[in-house]
Amino acid sequence: MLSDQLQLNILSRSSNAIAIYDSIGLHIRFVSEAMLQIWGKERSIVGKTLEEAVPEIAGQPFINLLRQVWESGITYTATDTQATLEIAGILKTSYFDFEYQPIKDDQGITIAILHTTRDVSGRVTAWRQVAEKQNREEQLIAELRQTGSDMQDANTHLSAANHDLQVSNERVNRLNLRLQESETDFKRLVEQAPVAILVFRGPEMVIDLVNEAMLEILGKDKNIAGKPLLEGLPEIKGAPAVDMLFEVFATGKALDGNEAPVPIRRGNEVQTRYFNFSYRPLIDDGHIIGVMDVAIEVTEQVLARKKLEENERRLQGILDTMAEGVVIVDTEARPTYANAMAQRIMGIDEIAFMGRRYNDAKWQNERVDGSPLLMDDHPIYVVLRTGLPLYDQEVAIIPPDKEKIYISINAAPLVSKDGELTGGILTFTDVTNRRKLMQQKDDFISVASHELKTPVTALKASLQLLERMQDKEGSLMSRKLVEQANRSLNKLSDLISSLLNVNRISQGRFPIHKSTFKIADLINECCQHIHAAGTHNLILKGDLDAQITADDQLLDQVIVNLVNNAVKYAPDAKDIVIEVDVTATEARVAVSDQGPGIPAEKASHIFERYYQADQGSRHFNGLGLGLYIAAEIIEKHGGQIGVDSEPGQGSTFWFTLPV
Ligand code: ADP
Repeated sequence: MLSDQLQLNILSRSSNAIAIYDSIGLHIRFVSEAMLQIWGKERSIVGKTLEEAVPEIAGQPFINLLRQVWESGITYTATDTQATLEIAGILKTSYFDFEYQPIKDDQGITIAILHTTRDVSGRVTAWRQVAEKQNREEQLIAELRQTGSDMQDANTHLSAANHDLQVSNERVNRLNLRLQESETDFKRLVEQAPVAILVFRGPEMVIDLVNEAMLEILGKDKNIAGKPLLEGLPEIKGAPAVDMLFEVFATGKALDGNEAPVPIRRGNEVQTRYFNFSYRPLIDDGHIIGVMDVAIEVTEQVLARKKLEENERRLQGILDTMAEGVVIVDTEARPTYANAMAQRIMGIDEIAFMGRRYNDAKWQNERVDGSPLLMDDHPIYVVLRTGLPLYDQEVAIIPPDKEKIYISINAAPLVSKDGELTGGILTFTDVTNRRKLMQQKDDFISVASHELKTPVTALKASLQLLERMQDKEGSLMSRKLVEQANRSLNKLSDLISSLLNVNRISQGRFPIHKSTFKIADLINECCQHIHAAGTHNLILKGDLDAQITADDQLLDQVIVNLVNNAVKYAPDAKDIVIEVDVTATEARVAVSDQGPGIPAEKASHIFERYYQADQGSRHFNGLGLGLYIAAEIIEKHGGQIGVDSEPGQGSTFWFTLPV
């Protein structure tokens, strides 16, 4: 049996590189010659730890691997592993196959690691070289292949390029041809364009191209082509449009003109014509070579507009100086225009007008009788609702913090061309003074008629006394005089009672006492005087048995008035026809005469106070109150009154009463 030492000595000569570590700290227990050679170390390292013995392997994986083998008890084998060792003072990298094999005791505890290794650097280098060579070959092959296909590509490209070149050549040829054509095309285009075109070239603005339309506008012929602008068209010198043309040439910036005036020669005279035009610079290779002028003549439009503006100005002048207020409203009755007089009458400026509403609570609207005028009854609302005009509607207006004014309004709808209602127009005058005068007149009449009544009553009493005395002892002459005086006095007292009536009526002070009676009886009774006079025939027709309910005294007054008027205004016609017509709802009485009749424009006024149709000739006496009073009476009964008349055809005055 060989001693342990001897065994190790033998082992150390083995050509195999062997090392044995006998602690987890990797103390070198044994190392063979071959291993020492690999490590490049002396035998004196035996007993040292591996880290102390081969310090350069710090940082390489081996120490850790050995410790793991020690701890895990599992053999670790590796091939072709690179290790860097210091051999004779030089760090050298080599390749190794190696194995770390744990040696265990009976309990399986690791007591040592057997490390065997073999330098395989030669093999590794050989393999490397082979691999490199192979690699290079593969690369070469790949390159070769690439070059092949590149070459093929290049060939294809070349033929394509050739083809392109050919195509390009052809295109260039064609383009050249087209260029020539296009210049002629452009010229033709300019020639035939429906708008006027001029092409100038050079700083002198030489007329290069000019079409028919332009020649017509300018009043020139083809001869101006080739001439500088100011030579061909000397009359336009100084026109702003010409300055603009030179500006476009100088700056290269396009300019447009709108309704520009240009003096144009037409025959012997130079007229101002108007044009819309656009100047565009012609640029060749970055240089401005000319200007193109495209123009449209707008003289007619400009003149028409100027005329319209002139008309508008004139209209504005009229509106501004009018004695009547004019207000235009939209369909909602909002003012959109108010002339100066309207502003003056209402005492507000235009801005306040535009914001004004007819139902503004700060403004009170009244009827002339002092009752409130509801918005729906305001003339402008009536016109907007009915689409029909209204004339001479008098209303009172109380502006905020100001005195009441009276205005007389005419109102008419405004209708568009398609017949659509677009608003209304109000014209009005301030009639406050007229109203005041009327009031004064009423007051005067009221006082005067009251004052007259007393002496007239006294006079009447005296005359009656005188009449009675005459019966006994008076002469024929004095009897006639008394009779005459009585007639005059009766007339006078009729007049006074009319005046008193009108005052009572205008103040709404007359009660009605209704009773039921036969209308024919009333008519017969009240027309006794006509029968008596014998100048006219009174013909009564219709429902003579009809009964009506009304104030008989007031109705008497109405009928007497109509019949008296017929006598008065139709003296030459003999027949006066009174016709009674009763239906389920109303009784109608009509008084017709064969007199001169009444023109329509006057007929609408004859029921007004103090109105007399024939004011010019004062040959009919009267106050113009009879029909006014009649109308008030009929109205108070809830009926209607009116006249149907045609000049020369007589008149029919009628009234209705509800039954
Ligand atoms: P007066 O008779 O006092 O003038 P009225 O009120 O009775 O007042 O009549 C007003 C106007 O109407 C008259 O002035 C007259 O011009 C016109 N008129 C009235 N009745 C007739 C008639 N039958 N024919 C023509 N005109 C008439």
